[in-house]
Amino acid sequence: MICAFYKNTQLLFLLLYLYLVKKIYKFLLNTLPRPLLIRLSYVFKFFAPMLYRGNQVDCPVCGRSFSKFLSYGSEVAHRENVLCPYDLTLERHRLLWLYLNRETNFFSADHLKVLHIAPEQCFLPLFKKQKNLDYTTADLVSPIADLHFDLHDIPLEENQYDVVFCNHVMEHVDDPVRCMSELCRVMKPGGWAIMQVPQDMSRAETYEDKSITTPEEREKHFWQKDHLRLFGRDYPNYMEKAGFKVNEFDLNTAFEPTEITKFRLMKKEILYIAVKP
Ligand SMILES: [Zn+2]
Repeated sequence: MICAFYKNTQLLFLLLYLYLVKKIYKFLLNTLPRPLLIRLSYVFKFFAPMLYRGNQVDCPVCGRSFSKFLSYGSEVAHRENVLCPYDLTLERHRLLWLYLNRETNFFSADHLKVLHIAPEQCFLPLFKKQKNLDYTTADLVSPIADLHFDLHDIPLEENQYDVVFCNHVMEHVDDPVRCMSELCRVMKPGGWAIMQVPQDMSRAETYEDKSITTPEEREKHFWQKDHLRLFGRDYPNYMEKAGFKVNEFDLNTAFEPTEITKFRLMKKEILYIAVKP
């Protein structure tokens, strides 16, 4: 009798403990800035499989299933059920990963020379491991990058790279066309670049206003405290001005609706493939 009581109390404490850990976990993921989250990612990798056990959603990047993803985003761009609790991927990371897997020779080509600007933590260790890639990372300041430079003046020779990734950078730089031109210059003819940005599909034209300078105002107008503009449907024009030919990859025609739901992709997201002619 005493033994059963003891066991039930233990179970109750365990459930309460798990409940509290889950609450704290969710709070941290929704509150801490992404760079800090990434530094703490080993903690999340330990807890996520326990706290979000299930198979309602799939993350193709870490190859794991969960009961749900977590919410993410600032007040003006908040989304539910989008952040993988294991490797912190968002819709855009999962879309890019699926695109690379299914539509390109990124994982199968004998040899590709790749330049990855501002490398995402969820991709970095996986790309580094790939034997078929001659893989270089670069960033303005990040200590984890191989090279450090300003994208407006890339200190590299022209016609070198087969593939370039430069995601969620162009909304932060002074002159996106100049940065894209520089990336185009260092790429081989026929090479392709992916330069994802936050894009407001309800806007025909990109919204930019140099008089908006405070972090609060920038967050309100451009979705994040350090964004300098909010790209609209005219985003491909920037790439074309920089010398690229732009192809659009529409996930709605490429993937089954059940996959879009399972991977929690953003239906209106278009992946632009910028090819150097
Ligand atoms: Zn994941």
